[in-house]
Formats: sequence, structure tokens, C-alpha cells
Amino acid sequence: MKFSNVETFEFIRNIYGGSDVIPLHEPRFRGNEKLFVNNAIDSTFVSSVGAYVDKFETMIASISETERGVAVVNGTAALQVALKIAGVNQGDEVITQALTFVATTNAISYNGATPVFIDVDLDTMGLSPNSVNNFLLEFGELRDGKCFNKKTGRKISACLPMHTFGFPVHLNELIQICNQWNIPLVEDAAESLGSLYDGKPTGSFGELGVFSFNGNKIVTAGGGGAIVSKNVEYGAYAKHLTTTAKIPHPFEYAHDEVGYNFRMPNLNAALACAQLEQLKGFIESKRKLAEQYDSFFNKQGIKFRKESENARANYWLMCIELENKNDRDLFLKESNSLGIMTRPIWQLMYRLPMYSDNYRDSQKNAEFLESRIVNIPSSVI
Ligand SMILES: *Cc1c(COP(=O)(O)O)cnc(C)c1O
Repeated sequence: MKFSNVETFEFIRNIYGGSDVIPLHEPRFRGNEKLFVNNAIDSTFVSSVGAYVDKFETMIASISETERGVAVVNGTAALQVALKIAGVNQGDEVITQALTFVATTNAISYNGATPVFIDVDLDTMGLSPNSVNNFLLEFGELRDGKCFNKKTGRKISACLPMHTFGFPVHLNELIQICNQWNIPLVEDAAESLGSLYDGKPTGSFGELGVFSFNGNKIVTAGGGGAIVSKNVEYGAYAKHLTTTAKIPHPFEYAHDEVGYNFRMPNLNAALACAQLEQLKGFIESKRKLAEQYDSFFNKQGIKFRKESENARANYWLMCIELENKNDRDLFLKESNSLGIMTRPIWQLMYRLPMYSDNYRDSQKNAEFLESRIVNIPSSVI
């Protein structure tokens, strides 16, 4: 066993204490969780409408500095609907990164569109504006103001970057390119609730943004998601589509298109509201932990991944970059056998059978990170 690994494991044990398994990320319920959930039960509104759903939607719009928030059953469903609203249709292409959780890519497929995998930046671990630009210079063509892939003939109907582990992508540069090619930007901000770029929240930069409130995210609804937008019409349409496209009426059932039952139950919204009240404190705690990790790993000569310039990350899941795949594999094996939960970053999407034939550019950076990045325990202290 490498000496430095032993010291690392001791350091992590000292932070979290005890002799039990140290999870990668566990939720903390230290606020109004029980009160709000009990209130929801007492109100009898436990299902798809209720006061906490409304409160949650107001809170998430305010936190993300957007005009409208819509509560959705999970982040994946939120992505699916956000892409549809952005204009993604059957047969289109959507630009995204291969270094992501599979939900990003699946949400594109649910709309009948094809993910196109463009490389990430080494510093942000998210979609690289420069690589997107190169792809569009080679394959992009504007026809009547819409962007098409001149090789495949398909419309490129959205760009879907993902803010890996809460580290924002280079949004200014990406937006400039998307505007140039008239491609709507949708942010997969599932992991970056509360992260700022140029002082503004991730999720607020795109035409639409999406958050997840799964149990392992920075705050949880038990299960849940949200769509946010500065465009109130998009917001209203997101609510409509996720509510079975029902036309409001005192008693009639009328629906004006094929909608979805993607609503977040009031019980889950109650939990989420109590959690959102604590988001600021959670981020402060994580940023302090990140400082501790950073100074420790500096001394060890191991690279602790930090936010890039003009970003303020939520440090949802913290990670280190090891020298090579051998070191990574050893670290994973040793830590997990000692009850310290660590995980590799995701396999690149084109390694999965359903996405193996999709277009991809060089993926030099994504492959570099894939073999070196390891998540370490990151729960709020
Ligand atoms: C968690 C996550 C999602 C999906 O969220 P669910 O609520 O679990 O459906 C989507 N994209 C990314 C990058 C995620 O990490």
C-alpha cells in the first residue's frame, strides 16, 4: 500500500469520525424537514398538488434567479421536457459531453434525437466551448437561421452542457458560440445547484435549466427535479406539459397535446423546501471542507480539483486527480476495502452499447479525466 494513500484515508476518517462506512454523499436533515412533511400529511395534500409544490417553485426560481420554476418528478424527466421545449424533435442532433451521467444523454434519446459527443475542458470537466466551436466550423451550416449538420443533414436543435460535480462550464464562451449558430442552450445543472458563474447561478444562463433533487444531490426531495427559465412562456409550457397538458377547467378533463405526468408530489416538495432553506449553509460547509482537502492534498502532492476562475462551485462531490489509471485503481480498491466510499468518474457515454455509434470528436480531455478522477467523501460536515 502506498504511504500517501494510508495518510489520505486517515485524514478522511478524522474528518468524518467513527468506524462505520463513510459514504460518498449522505443527506443531512437538520432543519424543518419533519415539520414540513408532517404539515403536508396533515393537510391531506400529499400528491401532485399542494402548498409545498407552490412554495418549492417560488424558492427554486428565486435561488436560480429565474422567472419561473417548475417542480418535476425527477431530474431526468425535467431534462426530457426542457429539451422538448427548447425545440428538440425526432431526428435532430443535440450537442453534449460524453463525460456525464447517463441521464443527460438518455433525455436526448427520449425526444428521438441523437447525442453528439464533444470533448470537455480539462479545467471545468464540462463541455468545451472551443471544441464545440471546432465541431460547428467543420459540420455546422445555417439554413434559414437554423443550424444543420451538413454531413448528416440533421438539425442541431440544442446544446446541453453539464456542470460536472458542481463546477460550472465556461458559460460566457459557450453562449457566444450558441448564439452565433442560433442553437438554444439548455443547462444540465443537476449537480450544480447554488454554483455561480460570473456571480450568477448556473441554470439561469440557458434558455432553460434543470436541477435534480435525488437523494445523493446537494439537497434532496427524496426524488425530484426542477425546470427553471427566465422565459415565463417556457415556464408556463413546462408546467403544462408536465401536468398531462391539461387545460385548466373547474371539472372537465381536456388536454391539448400528449403531455406527461411528471409532477413532483407535495410530500417530496415539503422535504425539498426544508432542504432548500439550508442550501447556503450546506455550500459554506462544503467549501470549508474543500479548503481542508486542498491543503491536505497539496502536501501529499495529489491534485485536488478546484473551481476555475470566475466560478464559485457548490463543491457537491469533491474529487482528486491521480497520476494515472494504475494509481486510480489502487486508490479505489484500498479506500473501498477500508470502508471509505470513493468512486471513479463515469465511463464515457460512447463506451455504453446504446451510444457506441454516435459521433464523437477527439475526446482527449474526457479520456484523460476518465482514467484519473476519483470522487471522495463529500457530505456536509
Ligand atoms: C442526478 C443527475 C441527473 C438526473 O437526476 P435524477 O433526479 O436522478 O433523475 C441528470 N444529470 C446529471 C448530470 C445528474 O448528476
